[in-house]
Amino acid sequence: MAASDRYVRQTILPEIGRGGQEKLSAATVAVVGLGALGTVSANLLARAGVGHLRLVDRDVVELSNLQRQVLFDERDIDAPKAEAAAAKLLAANSGIRVEPVARDVNGPNAESILAGVDLVLDGTDNMEARFLVNEVSIKRGFPWVYGGAIAAHGMALAIVPKVTACFRCFLPQMPAPGSLPTCETAGILNTVSSVVGSLQAAEAIKLLLGRPPSGELLVFDGWASDLQRIRIARREDCPACARGETELLGARRGQVIAALCGSKTISVDPVHKGEVDLAGIEGRLRKLGPVRSLGSVIMFEAGGATFTVFADGRALIRGTDDPERARSLYAKYVGM
Ligand SMILES: [Zn+2]
Repeated sequence: MAASDRYVRQTILPEIGRGGQEKLSAATVAVVGLGALGTVSANLLARAGVGHLRLVDRDVVELSNLQRQVLFDERDIDAPKAEAAAAKLLAANSGIRVEPVARDVNGPNAESILAGVDLVLDGTDNMEARFLVNEVSIKRGFPWVYGGAIAAHGMALAIVPKVTACFRCFLPQMPAPGSLPTCETAGILNTVSSVVGSLQAAEAIKLLLGRPPSGELLVFDGWASDLQRIRIARREDCPACARGETELLGARRGQVIAALCGSKTISVDPVHKGEVDLAGIEGRLRKLGPVRSLGSVIMFEAGGATFTVFADGRALIRGTDDPERARSLYAKYVGM
């Protein structure tokens, strides 16, 4: 089978053609967050032949993810999402480059993680990450596609800095922590997240082909089967895209601790340079009990919690929702 046969069902479309396929093949796209939306959009972009996909996620696969996160199966449980997703996408399309990044995206590292991209797809589950992606998008001049889904509702918005409204034109103030429903408290229909992930992938492909953005928020209601388009205007006084202010980018945090959507899990990310000696950590912990290796992470149980330690030193600590206790457990068993 010739390589050109792979895309024949889309290159036959006059809106794509051979020229459009070459644009997709030359593009670098980062999918930030590989949950219900990110697994759907990354899957579609890989199969459509986007030449370089950077898959960014700080989390590992859990059983309750499988209901909607379409790139994962039971064998992936406890493995880093970025690595499990990369393996699936390369099995579907070995002709593209797929780069897993099993890291948290935060103020100090966002610019380096998103360096060199032509577009970002938002698959995150929190507003702080979206405000941060928005700031990097404006600073670097690349477009991104916001997506969100909860219960039976979802929305998507293609953002081209200085052309369309940015995310802060749409949502001027970051909502207070705890003020929004989460996938854990409100649930999510897998059909709705799949529709929204598909809408995001479609917006991304159109932008990569060079089509002008609509500037419209797409709002999907899964029970009513209704799709609305709402025009979002740029704000002349927008702190982000009009005044160029950055609140999250470059913000220094002594230590990044995040409570993850999925409860009783804390991500602890001590500030340090370079890789940690994972083999050394593993050797010390073996004296206390069994240690499992999964891809580039190690897992162990200690102090009543389950630890997953990544190659960059970050750890997910499951079994507590208290950041102070998580930090203390990290200091005790991993060391910082
Ligand atoms: Zn703006």
